[in-house]
Amino acid sequence: MKSIKIKKSSRKIEIGKIVCVGRNYAEHAKELGNEVPEKPVIFLKPASSVIFSGDKIIYPSFSNEMHHETELVLLIGKRIKNGNEKESEEAIEGYGVGLDMTLRDIQGELKKKGYPWTIAKCFDTSAVLSDFILKKDYYLRLDEEISLTINGEIRQKEKLNLMLFPPVKIVQYISSLMTLEEGDLIFTGTPKGVSKVEKGDKLHAEISGLTDLICSVK
Ligand code: ZN
Repeated sequence: MKSIKIKKSSRKIEIGKIVCVGRNYAEHAKELGNEVPEKPVIFLKPASSVIFSGDKIIYPSFSNEMHHETELVLLIGKRIKNGNEKESEEAIEGYGVGLDMTLRDIQGELKKKGYPWTIAKCFDTSAVLSDFILKKDYYLRLDEEISLTINGEIRQKEKLNLMLFPPVKIVQYISSLMTLEEGDLIFTGTPKGVSKVEKGDKLHAEISGLTDLICSVK
């Protein structure tokens, strides 16, 4: 089992399920030719896909188009089911930045057939995580900037407040569909600017003032 690393804390929290939100920034939905959704688009990643800052993303042999998606990640600190707004806010224990690595060529084929995105989203090393900051140590204002550079070049840079569904709404919505538990993570969607990565690329993802991660592609 894998555990989340938390800044300023020796606490170990085992990673549960990873729920991901798709199309949560209007400009990103558009760049992939998708409509802006009325409700969050939801999919899952397994905990086995997680690596941490400093690790390597392994390019799967069955794809020629792996994309980066840079995302605010929420850490759930307590069990919640059908939560109201206040309970949903209280269930968020901390924040990190993550990469939702995606096989865009495979995803395109799956979408065409109406199949689930599993093969495009759940491969080993497809979820890269920073250290997390507990909410008690940092108040997220949502005017922070989320960014990604590849080999020093900016690829994604956007304010978090451009999210269509903010963190509390996302937790509330997911908890109406399935129980969330301590150690579950929520990837909140990527801003525009997703693009292909190549072997040897060095990635640096950051949420200004909060946390960052580095990794390379192998
Ligand atoms: Zn994503």
